[in-house]
Amino acid sequence: MVDVINESHENPANHHYVVTIDDMTGDAMACTCPHHTYHTADCKHMAASRPPLPISHSAPSL
Ligand SMILES: [Zn+2]
Repeated sequence: MVDVINESHENPANHHYVVTIDDMTGDAMACTCPHHTYHTADCKHMAASRPPLPISHSAPSL
């Protein structure tokens, strides 16, 4: 799991969420923040915890 602290808020401790990472795929599975809990949707914490997409995967091979 990955701890995510949103330090852009005045009280970062109140915006401390835990993102659950799938050990097999490395993809973010869940987050403890209200956005994901109540809407079951991807949130910025999950997106921030994902590794960047490999460029070679989407770019045509020359
Ligand atoms: Zn979140």
